[in-house]
Amino acid sequence: MMSQDQHIHNCEQNTFKDVEVRYEKINTEQWHWVLELWHRPERQSDKSDEIYAISYCNTLLISFCPFCGENLNEIESNIW
Ligand SMILES: [Zn+2]
Repeated sequence: MMSQDQHIHNCEQNTFKDVEVRYEKINTEQWHWVLELWHRPERQSDKSDEIYAISYCNTLLISFCPFCGENLNEIESNIW
């Protein structure tokens, strides 16, 4: 039975900020591990058009941690 809760793989080898390995709902009925990469614009207070700079997120389905190589699907079945 698959877990229906969000989980985060807290990876010691992931030294990047705004990058997370998460188990989450990817559509109305399916859950999977994803790599999330947030793009947050630099603050430029001298520019009046800064309000148009918005954050966005890239999400990629993964089965293995891209940092430590752990099989995330095995983590799921072993621990949850
Ligand atoms: Zn990892």
